[in-house]
Amino acid sequence: MKVLKFGGTSVGSIKNMKLVKEIITDNEKKIVVLSAMSGTTNSLVEIAEFIRKGEQNKAIDCIAELHKKYQIVLNDLIEVSNLKQDVEDYINSVFEFLNSLILDSYSELLYNKIVAQGELLSTFIFTKYLIQEKINVQLLPALDFMRIDKANEPDEFYIKQNLQRIINESFPADIYITQGFICLDAMGKIANLQRGGSDYTATIIGAVMNADEVEIWTDIDGMHNNDPRFVENTHAISNLSFDEAAELAYFGAKILHPQTVMPAREANIPVRLKNTMEPTSYGTLISSKYKGEGIKAIAAKDNITAIKIKSARMLLAHGFLKKVFEIFEKYETSIDMITTSEIAVSLTIDNDKNLISIIEELEKFSSVEIDKQQSIICLVGHDVVLHPETHRLFEVLKDISVRMISYGGSNNNISLLVNTNDKITALKKLNTYIFEAVTV
Ligand code: ASP
Repeated sequence: MKVLKFGGTSVGSIKNMKLVKEIITDNEKKIVVLSAMSGTTNSLVEIAEFIRKGEQNKAIDCIAELHKKYQIVLNDLIEVSNLKQDVEDYINSVFEFLNSLILDSYSELLYNKIVAQGELLSTFIFTKYLIQEKINVQLLPALDFMRIDKANEPDEFYIKQNLQRIINESFPADIYITQGFICLDAMGKIANLQRGGSDYTATIIGAVMNADEVEIWTDIDGMHNNDPRFVENTHAISNLSFDEAAELAYFGAKILHPQTVMPAREANIPVRLKNTMEPTSYGTLISSKYKGEGIKAIAAKDNITAIKIKSARMLLAHGFLKKVFEIFEKYETSIDMITTSEIAVSLTIDNDKNLISIIEELEKFSSVEIDKQQSIICLVGHDVVLHPETHRLFEVLKDISVRMISYGGSNNNISLLVNTNDKITALKKLNTYIFEAVTV
């Protein structure tokens, strides 16, 4: 059995939904995970934001506008009258529900209820469309089996038991459709796997079902060797190891939700990235088989804050780093990069929600300097740190001020921290040196 996930653009228009139908009807049993139609989750986030700010009229307008969009989808996609009625009733019930929340006081739960509606809509509509096309399909409600635990990790035992049970109890189908992104939390309340989380849903399902393969279908032809928004002539990478893909997803390659690779790597299930608009192109295969050597890709992650913690007490002392890390642990802030000298340690975070409290605590025993607007540039490739040409990278970067370097943390990653203003220049220079074989 395969698990296929289709992103927002793939279900974002009638034309693309029809392409998805072609891709999934190949007589193989499969579970299909869908995102919300493109733009929907953003609109739902906006609605939640208006409610939070007490701007009820704006929320009402936004709901009405989104409702209109779905009425158009309904009219263009569903022709059979009883199915049309079902879909219309469903769409109306979702928008009535959204309107009923307008006067509620804002909470995380309210936000979660609102943003969940996108996947509920896309899967209901698409399932009815497949029924109209005489396909043997069943809708598996994700909220009946997808759950995270207290540490926000997928509760694999619960997911496996319940997904298996629901499939056994439901009418045997060729295609099972389910919602990406949404889940229950440890208390049984509605939650989600964070923005872009449908990819993660797909590999969690793939792992618990021991799938042959997980396919992530988007609107690009795979993971690229550099960021196509800033650098010309990038190309899709055919093969990546799980480690390489995990580093790239985490450090900025937008095509994949950062946690997606983990369940697949643990269960050793290959993940294939494919393009719905060009189904015959190879895409990118992520698996344990492929190694290769040298630098395979460059990615950049923005909105990084660098923190330099200096203390004379660090000199020849032990336990200093422990003290520092405990503060970050206390404020649930994860550290991405770290470099140390004898009297200072520099580290980066991508979430500065608790920065003020963190600084206050650090300042009790050290002096602290903060640099915002930084970007991590990450060079990824199997055994990249051991490659004989890698040292020449520093020549390439001689005109760019590099704030931190992390080399050797893993054999597959070299990370550089630069000011975000220098990011595009650095990406271009590195691209020329690494992928265009120009000697500097
Ligand atoms: N619909 C959600 C989002 O836009 C999840 C996803 O598409 O993966 O973030």
